[in-house]
Amino acid sequence: MKLYGLIGYPLHHSLSAAYFRNKFKSERLSDYHYELFEMPALEGLREWIRKNESLAGLNVTIPYKKQIITFLDDLDNTAHDAGAVNTIKIIRSCANIRLIGYNTDIWGFDQSLPDDLPSSEALVLGTGGAAGAVSVVLQRRGIPYRMVSRNPSGTNQIGYEALDEAIMHRSLLIINTTPLGMYPHTSTFPPIPYHWLTRRHFLYDLIYNPPETEFLRRGRQVGCRTMNGLTMLYQQAEKSWEIWTRDL
Ligand code: NAP
Repeated sequence: MKLYGLIGYPLHHSLSAAYFRNKFKSERLSDYHYELFEMPALEGLREWIRKNESLAGLNVTIPYKKQIITFLDDLDNTAHDAGAVNTIKIIRSCANIRLIGYNTDIWGFDQSLPDDLPSSEALVLGTGGAAGAVSVVLQRRGIPYRMVSRNPSGTNQIGYEALDEAIMHRSLLIINTTPLGMYPHTSTFPPIPYHWLTRRHFLYDLIYNPPETEFLRRGRQVGCRTMNGLTMLYQQAEKSWEIWTRDL
């Protein structure tokens, strides 16, 4: 039996288990399983992995993509660049384990982007693990961006209250990487000035449950193009699978 799974807290919103269970069924991988492991803390993680001998790989989600790094033995370049890990490869030898962190959100987000993005600056809402992956993609594509935070720090971050008409008009790509609007808190939304959105804006929400968040709904109502995180979810999941199943 080979066991894979997702660690995070909470996990009610996640479709990862459904995705992998469908995959294992359609590819007739009857000895493969994927479980959700809700963890209120990461202490004891290595011992839990070491004892759970059928565990072959893990995904990591909110709120642990950055915190997990101190529990790992090594990071590949993707995880290093993003400063966040969403995939762990587990290598066992005798009673020892080696844990390597990767970031497949970079691949997933990049693959999901349409060819006809507005050519403008971008705003990334939130500064957590997923924001790190989004930033790497924007940098690689040469798209200038600013991160929007409740507690901005450093030169590239601003607060929500700083989003004035000029910034909103020159930032036609707005990417939500906060959990605001995610199931079950579906009535919440990032506090941006929605009245300055136009038909030229493209709103991307990394959230996929619900399919249309309040953030996307407000944008759609004024004619913005919108996209949710479902394609990204599938793309990052397939990349994780590739990492777990290939030899080093
Ligand atoms: P995270 O590491 O906890 O970061 C979330 C960030 O959002 C925080 O750093 C924070 O930034 C901001 N935030 C948190 N609570 C907030 C609040 N109440 N109000 C305003 N801002 C808040 O989480 P993550 O792992 O990056 O995940 C974020 C979201 O992206 C989740 O909904 C996750 O499901 C989704 N996601 C989807 C995919 C996909 O494949 N579709 C992949 C990755 C992530 P500040 O403190 O700077 O404000």
